[in-house]
Amino acid sequence: MKKIQAIRGMNDILPEGSPTWQFLESRFSAVVKRFGYREIRFPILEQTQLFKRSIGEVTDIVEKEMYSFDDRNGDNLSLRPEGTAGCVRAADQHGLLYHQQQRLWYQGPMFRHERPQRGRYRQFHQFGVEAFGMSGPDIDAELIQISATVWQELGLLEFVKLELNNIGSAHDRCAYGRALTAFLEAHESELDADARRRMHSNPMRVLDSKSAAVQSVLADAPALSDFVSQDSCDRFEVLEQILQSVGINYVIKPNLVRGLDYYNNCVFEWTTEQLGAQSAVCGGGRYDGLAEQLGGRPTAAAGFAMGVERLVLMLETLERVPESYRRPVDAYVLTNGEGLFSLALRLAEEIRALCPGRGIVTHCGGGKYNSQIKRAFSAGARFAVVLETAGEDSPVSAKIRNLAGAGETSSAELSTIPAEVARLLEA
Ligand code: AMP
Repeated sequence: MKKIQAIRGMNDILPEGSPTWQFLESRFSAVVKRFGYREIRFPILEQTQLFKRSIGEVTDIVEKEMYSFDDRNGDNLSLRPEGTAGCVRAADQHGLLYHQQQRLWYQGPMFRHERPQRGRYRQFHQFGVEAFGMSGPDIDAELIQISATVWQELGLLEFVKLELNNIGSAHDRCAYGRALTAFLEAHESELDADARRRMHSNPMRVLDSKSAAVQSVLADAPALSDFVSQDSCDRFEVLEQILQSVGINYVIKPNLVRGLDYYNNCVFEWTTEQLGAQSAVCGGGRYDGLAEQLGGRPTAAAGFAMGVERLVLMLETLERVPESYRRPVDAYVLTNGEGLFSLALRLAEEIRALCPGRGIVTHCGGGKYNSQIKRAFSAGARFAVVLETAGEDSPVSAKIRNLAGAGETSSAELSTIPAEVARLLEA
């Protein structure tokens, strides 16, 4: 019978790979906790309408990439393609937004039906941070500082670059959209079908076009920067000043618009040269209109999301995962002789009590001493603790064998073994 395989673009994370994920998860959650952010969890499935209204009907994500289906009640649902919409929905539904400030974070799988390649998958994971109720550039700076701290903690800061842009207020963007539509109408014959369709419904998405012909038309298009109001420029300048004073380097990227419609004013992306085509590792910005667009009250908001798989690739390529995460087993307790298993179990438990966070395995499955030692080696243990007895009535003795070094063995009183193992593991 043909074996069933995983869905294309949806990865299994095997035990070999999971330490990198655990390292990332623990560093990310520690950093956001230090900044006073609290975790929020919300469903992977939502009403399709939620994403249409937030990300935008005329975007690649909504038009081409969502996993949508009718459930048994006939409701149209979608697997979430990103986290912000669900986070705003949940926070608003539970009354967390009105007249309040919230600092929230989340993590989990997202789904987009894109063409899979290195760094681009159909199920991928994000760490995200969302801040509500703060309208100034101070919170934008805080978000950028959090992301910079995450890179620092992961040892990746020197491999990423911050790109910033000011895309103006909702009002500025409307005015720009009208000017862009007029320009595109004048060049309609040079556009492809996609651009022609979008030039009325969502002209700014034409800017994302992958067609070289469309891009050459766009070379003479009006520039968004000419439509950005003084107010928006002023707040962006304050953001720049804060970033400079805290020593965060950035470059201004005038064509950085982001593929989701809900952004306004400051948007940013962290990119790397380590990953080839899929260079973006984190994207974010302000989205002050989103809560209202979803039926809530107007709420100042800003956030970012990091792509976990891309960070995993970077950490693996650059070998940044500490040894302690990569070693699942530190000591392996085995027996050489009959009737010693329960004693081994108790001894392992005593070692665990003295060595929190270490992996202590008790050999199961029997077998001769040599085959047990082989298991200890293949488990990657640093030390084997061997319980043995010369005969049925003889006293039990114990020794510790160093599996990593020259293989030296030391014997010790049974009662001193746990403390001795703890000392060796800390050395
Ligand atoms: P976005 O929600 O599109 O702004 O994406 C935020 C981050 O998620 C990006 O910077 C990427 O690191 C990551 N990301 C987006 N789409 C994918 C994908 N299909 N596969 C892997 N990572 C992705």
